[in-house]
Amino acid sequence: MKSEPLILACTSDFAGKVRGKAFPQDQFEKRQKRGIGWTPTNVQITCFGAIAESPYGALGDLVLIPAPETRVSLDYQDGLPAEQFVFGDIVHTDGRPWECCTRSLLKGALDRLKRVTGMTLHGAFEHEFHLKDGGCPVGSAYTASGFRLQRSLGEKLLAAMRSAGLKPDTFMKEYGADQYEVTMGSVDGVAIADHAAILRELVYVTAERTGKQASFTPLRDPAGVGNGVHMHLSLRDGAGEPVTYDPNGKHGLSEPAGRFIAGILKYLDRIVALTAPSVVSYTRLTPHRWSAAFNNLGMRDREAAVRICPVSEMSDIGVADQFNFEFRAADAAASPYLALAAIVHAGVQGIEEALNIPDATEEDVSLLSAEELKQKNLVHLPATLEEALRAFSEADIVSDWFSTEFADVYAKHKTGEIAFLEGKTEAEICDAYETAY
Ligand code: GLU
Ligand code: MG
Repeated sequence: MKSEPLILACTSDFAGKVRGKAFPQDQFEKRQKRGIGWTPTNVQITCFGAIAESPYGALGDLVLIPAPETRVSLDYQDGLPAEQFVFGDIVHTDGRPWECCTRSLLKGALDRLKRVTGMTLHGAFEHEFHLKDGGCPVGSAYTASGFRLQRSLGEKLLAAMRSAGLKPDTFMKEYGADQYEVTMGSVDGVAIADHAAILRELVYVTAERTGKQASFTPLRDPAGVGNGVHMHLSLRDGAGEPVTYDPNGKHGLSEPAGRFIAGILKYLDRIVALTAPSVVSYTRLTPHRWSAAFNNLGMRDREAAVRICPVSEMSDIGVADQFNFEFRAADAAASPYLALAAIVHAGVQGIEEALNIPDATEEDVSLLSAEELKQKNLVHLPATLEEALRAFSEADIVSDWFSTEFADVYAKHKTGEIAFLEGKTEAEICDAYETAY
């Protein structure tokens, strides 16, 4: 008997996990109308598999509707069946978007951006990950030998990305132990997060097919560097023209882009629980790990929460098209949909409030006194997930952007995740996250 192809209809949930149910390939058309049944309490399954407190209990029914533009079919031509999956939106049975559907929440945020400013978002996520038992000798950071060790994985990944409609950009041996990085070309709107979600699956599957195990955990070892997710973003006007750059603007930023960034930085301490949502995320977000520890804007500074990226006058791409800013206080424990939704809402808020374009820091911010930080309008990011959750839960504005139902359920989810780790040592906690992501 020949095996019959299945397509996995998936959601990227509060745990940043991809979960779903599969259906026969020949039902693809029908499933776009009928969807596939989904259970509200699933959103409370933490990355460790325990179910956090759920207001839904055993009640309720939802439908996951596949979005055909996210359909992926990967044939590695290695004798194994093609890997097929599709992301989708979770809706109520009457078709209303579900309050806890991360993809719908992102669409809501992008709609607000469009409504308030007439603009759209353009961007791409850059991902770092490591291979468990990768076997890279010490001293392999950025080396040709470190690259060669996983060249085959990199080349398979490239092909998988291309076949999934992602634009491969770079693949390299990163600084950390057995750490690699992959970047891709930028796209518009919800596809930015779709491509991030797809990319993570492609890395897992491709590693598996080459006999390896990949992990995106935010921090494998407190003595080393973390795995970051860097979100490269820019704004486009209604005609699709880039509007982030202004040669006469402060730091080269146009007024709307500067205000958008100011909004992200103003609200960062209240949304970081959505962009860097694991317990170990907060060890990564400390000084001198090239992540971010403060709500600062940096000019080409890799320790800034938002960095203005360099442009090249020599490139075949125009400066305005290249010009983008990079949000660095994110990691892959976050659903890319949710992390991006939070950034967009904070950015639009900054535009609505007509905030001033921030000054870019040029020094090691961790050396500034409390007084100096205050003068510069800078705050330390929360030091723990508990602290970040408190700031998130106390911020009425965040539940205004999303909904009180969302804010309440999310806080309960993360509280359950923290409870699971009680009594564990730091090393055990790192191991648990390495396994989970
Ligand atoms: N690994 C760093 C992080 O946790 C980023 C290093 C880089 O600049 O690429 O974000
Ligand atoms: Mg990197």
